[in-house]
Amino acid sequence: MFDLAAGAQGVKVPIDQDRLWQRHAEMAAFGQIPGPRADRSGVNRPCFSADDIAARQLLITWARARGYSVHQDPIANLFIRRAGTTDGAPVATGSHMDTQPRGGRFDGIYGVLAGFEVLEALDDAGIATTHPLEVVAWTNEEGGRFAPGTMGSMVYAGAAKIEQFLDTTDIAGTRFADALAATLAATPAPVDRRFGDAFAGYIEAHIEQGPRLEHAGARIGVVTGIQGMAWFEVTIRGETAHAGTCPVGQRRDALRAAHAAISSLYQLTADPDDTLRFTIGRFVVDPGSPNTVPNLVRFSIDMRHPDPDTLARLADAIPSTIAGAVGPCTAEVRTTNRKAPMRFDPAVIDRVEAATKVLGLPYLVMPSGAGHDAGYVADLCPTGMVFIPCEAGVSHNEAEFARPEDLAAGAAVLASSLLGMAGTR
Ligand SMILES: [Zn+2]
Repeated sequence: MFDLAAGAQGVKVPIDQDRLWQRHAEMAAFGQIPGPRADRSGVNRPCFSADDIAARQLLITWARARGYSVHQDPIANLFIRRAGTTDGAPVATGSHMDTQPRGGRFDGIYGVLAGFEVLEALDDAGIATTHPLEVVAWTNEEGGRFAPGTMGSMVYAGAAKIEQFLDTTDIAGTRFADALAATLAATPAPVDRRFGDAFAGYIEAHIEQGPRLEHAGARIGVVTGIQGMAWFEVTIRGETAHAGTCPVGQRRDALRAAHAAISSLYQLTADPDDTLRFTIGRFVVDPGSPNTVPNLVRFSIDMRHPDPDTLARLADAIPSTIAGAVGPCTAEVRTTNRKAPMRFDPAVIDRVEAATKVLGLPYLVMPSGAGHDAGYVADLCPTGMVFIPCEAGVSHNEAEFARPEDLAAGAAVLASSLLGMAGTR
């Protein structure tokens, strides 16, 4: 149990490590899939699936038992509110409850449950806050069923309109709009929240999803921002030919061109600091016959960097690098996603760091390698994030694991930081 002195008020918030761990186990039952060991099962809980709906219902049951009010907005973002002594804008925390198809027990749900633990711990300690506190479960952060990800926070923050996504379908042909309507109907909470309603501040807790904290022996990541990303879809076109008869010198082999283009891209993006992230995660060859020269290759590029100038320079160089490498074939490069690096609010970063110091926890000040809902909420209010280590940095994987004591440490930092923003009587 963490007893911490929160900010200048010296308020004690008793975080209950066992309760927080138990809530993770209960949520992990929704969408449970086998893991590498009996005690390391994974989770497959796509957005708006029966398991996602069941997880939402359980969270609401817990919230009602504590007397918190529950609200939804039209994209089924879920808001659990603990009243303040005044009716000002809430100080919010949260994350997402959906997972990747072969996901773990902590990515996303930790931020929701850590926030809920903070509310419960404040109840247990009899602490009232001036601002209301809210725990938000953002819809469809992962984007595994309905692309793109971070839909809920994007729409709430005004970076996209809900109408853009209504006709999006999953692989089975189900429309986002229909899955959304079914989820709203099955979730016992009024749809009385408007997009863009202000927060006084937002702090999201999340597992790091990388190895840096563990390597450094740190227990908390004080997150400074989210690195930028540039995504592309590349299509290379050649011409089919007979593999036995067409001379190699006369071919327009799309795969050979793609191979040359990718070699050039690896040279372009070589980084001695190992800060740049460059991934080709999808690669399709047509027509895919062993004795036919391929006429078409399509592949994806996911590139990320925390520095805006570096990211822009490399992203701008990608089309010409590919064009210069494909020989007799043609290349089309389409940008599918572009987000500049963002910085969290300096005052929130300082607050999280100060809370970590008070608790005596070793920490790193670091940018986030992955995208998060907080990246969009930051458009609305002063925002920050708290990271905790996950074993070997493994995430988006059934083996994902975080220690109970680290979950509690992150919740304690979150409690102190939120209390500082929400104020106490
Ligand atoms: Zn996540």
